[in-house]
Amino acid sequence: RTVYVNGEFLPEEQAKVSVFDRGFLFADGVYEVTSVLGGKLIDFAGHTKRLDRSLKELGMEMPLTEDELLGIHRHLVEENGIEDGLVYLQITRGAADRDFAYPEAGTPQTVVLFTQAKPGLADSPQAERGIRVITIPDERWGRRDIKTVQLLYPSMGKMMAKAEGADDAWMVEDDCVTEGTSNNAYIVKNGTIVTRHLGTEILHGITRSAVLRFAREAQMKVEERAFTPDEAKEADEAFITSASSFVMPVVQIDEATLGDGTPGPVARRLREIYLEESRKAAV
Ligand code: PMP
Repeated sequence: RTVYVNGEFLPEEQAKVSVFDRGFLFADGVYEVTSVLGGKLIDFAGHTKRLDRSLKELGMEMPLTEDELLGIHRHLVEENGIEDGLVYLQITRGAADRDFAYPEAGTPQTVVLFTQAKPGLADSPQAERGIRVITIPDERWGRRDIKTVQLLYPSMGKMMAKAEGADDAWMVEDDCVTEGTSNNAYIVKNGTIVTRHLGTEILHGITRSAVLRFAREAQMKVEERAFTPDEAKEADEAFITSASSFVMPVVQIDEATLGDGTPGPVARRLREIYLEESRKAAV
């Protein structure tokens, strides 16, 4: 597989990052994951815009133009023959002597991109079955709107879910659901879609923003507000969204089965609309 590191396309075995990289030592870096369907990038502009915002929030520069970024993404997709899959991008504050204070301005950032092939990404059997989630306390830091590489707690959450035979965990803070370990969370009650409002408590999902737009265009009712785990367990249906899972139905939350235990009509319809529309707009 060919990967990109600091201006070069290299075989993955030859790609190297310093042991002094601040991404490695301090999780001082941000990332994006863009999905690829039919060899094309889904919502590339949205991911670039959020990357720009994450970097600004951490006082980092955007090291490449949007066109350069697109060129690198496309080159990797083509070179690695990706039909369906993902492009992962990470930018860190670069390598410097270990010090909590940021290195001086002008320290070269580390920029890494690689692809992951995921054949059949859009026709996952999970989407037909629906997934099971457990609820766990949200013990992450307070700036979840910045897409940093500090993913240890979400990773622990995923393991807690697996240990209980579930697929993912919804994190809970002040008795309200924030989001899933790597996705935004939604419930549907009497036809109304409810998902947490934007703030520093959740990541501003690119898929979330597209799905809410499509829902409103299809005259579905949307409420952006916090909801409790109890409200979720009494919902008619639930789902999650992310760049890699699109719209994924949730059929069980802790011990509560939603509806008849199969994916609900709103989640199914939104998945269809999302896949159709974002394929059309893919670059
Ligand atoms: N929340 C969290 C915590 C995430 O990690 C992700 C995926 N990176 C999302 C939400 C979904 O965001 P997106 O739709 O942009 O993939």
